[in-house]
Order: sequence, then C-alpha cells, then structure tokens
Amino acid sequence: MAIWGHTADGTAVPIYTLTSGQVEVRVMAWGAKLVSVRTPDRTGKVADIVLGYNSLQDYLNDTKTYFGSVVGRYGNRIAHGKFSLDGKTYQIPLNNGANALHGGPKGFDQYVWQSKEVPGGVEFTHVSPDGDMGFPGTLTAHVKYTLTGNTLRIDYSATTDKDTVLNLTNHAYYNLNGDDQGTVLNLKLQLDADKFTPIDSGLIPTGELAPVAGTPLDFRKPETIGARIDDANEQMKLAGGYDFNYVVNGAPGTLRPAATVVDPENGRKMTVETTQPGIQFYSGNFLDGTFTGRYGIKYTKHKGFCLETQVFPDSPNHPNFPSAELKPGQTFHSTTTITFSVVK
Ligand code: BGC
Repeated sequence: MAIWGHTADGTAVPIYTLTSGQVEVRVMAWGAKLVSVRTPDRTGKVADIVLGYNSLQDYLNDTKTYFGSVVGRYGNRIAHGKFSLDGKTYQIPLNNGANALHGGPKGFDQYVWQSKEVPGGVEFTHVSPDGDMGFPGTLTAHVKYTLTGNTLRIDYSATTDKDTVLNLTNHAYYNLNGDDQGTVLNLKLQLDADKFTPIDSGLIPTGELAPVAGTPLDFRKPETIGARIDDANEQMKLAGGYDFNYVVNGAPGTLRPAATVVDPENGRKMTVETTQPGIQFYSGNFLDGTFTGRYGIKYTKHKGFCLETQVFPDSPNHPNFPSAELKPGQTFHSTTTITFSVVK
C-alpha cells in the first residue's frame, strides 16, 4: 500500500499493487477504481491494457468517463431518474439528458472508500447514507479485488437498512492492444448471450428481451468489434456503436462464462465470468478526446471497451427484469472474474 495523493479536502487515497502469475493490477480507494492491469502478449512484451491516468489528480478531474470505477448505487440508466418502491416514488438527480446515469451526479465513483488488505488483495467499503442521490436506505457496499494466478476476481456485497435498489459494477475500459496502441476495433469478441435488451433513443430499455440472431449485435461466435459497428441496424444507430445490455446465458447466481476478447495480432486474451444476469458491452462511443491518458495519448472514440457485469439497466421500472431490490436482513452478493492469458 502507498498513499497516491489526496483529494481536495485532504483525504489520503491509498493505492494497492497486486501481483500474481504474469499479471500486475493496481487498485485505489478513490472510487474503488481499477487503475491498471499489466499483462504480457505472446512474445512476453508487457503492456497496460486498462485505460487510465498517471496521477490521482487526473482521476479527480475526470467525472465523465468512469475509468476503472465501481459505479453505484445504480450502474447504467434509470429512466427520468424515477422509480417506485413499496408505493413511494423516488427521484434521482438527472445527469444524462432526461435520465440518471451511474447513480446520479455524485455516484460511488466519486468517494474515497475505506480499504483494508485481505489475503490476495484488498477490500473497499463505502457507506451511502439514506437519501444519498435520492436512493432510500443506508447502503453499505463492499468490493473485494483479489488476484490468483492470472485471474482477477471482483466480489461485490451490500446490505441496507431500508428497501432499496442497487446495481454495482466495474466500469474499466480495456484495450488488449495496449492502452497507447490504437482502437479496440481490431479485437475479436465473443459474448455468451442469445438475447439483449433493446433500447430507445435515450438508451433506456424498452422492456423487451430480443434475440441477437440476424443482427450486428450477435457475438455468439467470435467477431471483430469493428466489422459491423457502422451497420445501419436501428439499435446500432441509436447507440452510436455498441452500448447494449446482453442477457448472459445460463442461470444468474452461478459463475458462468459471459465474454471472451482476443487480440489476433498480439495474442492477448481475456475471459469474463459472472454471477450477474447481464453484461453491458460498450465500445467507448462517447470518448471524444477530452481526456489524455497515461501515455500522453488522447482517449478518442473506441480507444477502449467496457464489459460491465450487472443487473439490467432501468430494472426498477421493469418488473419483468431480474430484480435489483435489496431488503434489510438480506445480503447482496455478486462475483465477476477476469482471466488474462495469451493464444498462440
Ligand atoms: C454506458 C454508456 C455511457 C458510459 C459512460 C456506460 O456504462 O453504457 O452509455 O456513456 O457508461 O462512461
């Protein structure tokens, strides 16, 4: 552990380095963020494969991209920031057009979490008070990062003192080419998902579960991310690329394959497994060059992709979606693993 810097109010921000197998991971207490992941390619050349910055100050200045962040209390969108629970209506401040995104204007990505070392890694804890960003109930959230061999495991858990809703995920942007090397359009993605949740023009789910078959959203077999990204498909046009919640095949609650990404040139591979019902595949469509990364390169469109394991966006307004509710006395648990390797 080292102190990486301080926030404007003088709070120290610890940063932790986890090393195991051939992987080095850094995580910090500001937003419980994944700061870096360094892995070798098939020739043994090591590179950073997560977008990020060299200094804490750069992270403090960027409240737009959510690089590496744990997002909460509710990751992704809630339509009009509004939902009802137990007959009461709640309003989250809007921060994405007519909607609330990633928990509202001051989400979990903008707090210094408490941290403690655990075997193989670190556990971060954040207490969100009753009424924080309009959400009911005091929510105590824990995110544990552990590294075993070449597998990074993220365990999320939470408890509440009133009925509430939650969607915790990690919003890291990966680029298996290396953070300073081009876009992600050349990478091959495979998603274990037969269905997705179609969206409207505000990127809010319509409530349907639609088959991916016959659309450019179909990644059941490995496909190059860039191959169909400019397709005239109506959903692709609405999202401006890939920005979709996929319904992960198999039973939520069991750790099962969700996604695999391979760099055909350098051989880097990552495999994502999750207990969550959904995964958001986002191709960095809104990265616009505003922010400059750790190698002095502007983060422009498609410089990174996110694979955010989650409950579905806007679930509190869709009774047919897996529930995002948590009640007092219950403990929420989810696990996501990311295994890094190389193909020959
Ligand atoms: C969402 C995108 C959003 C991005 C913000 C992703 O989780 O799906 O629509 O623009 O987060 O960084």
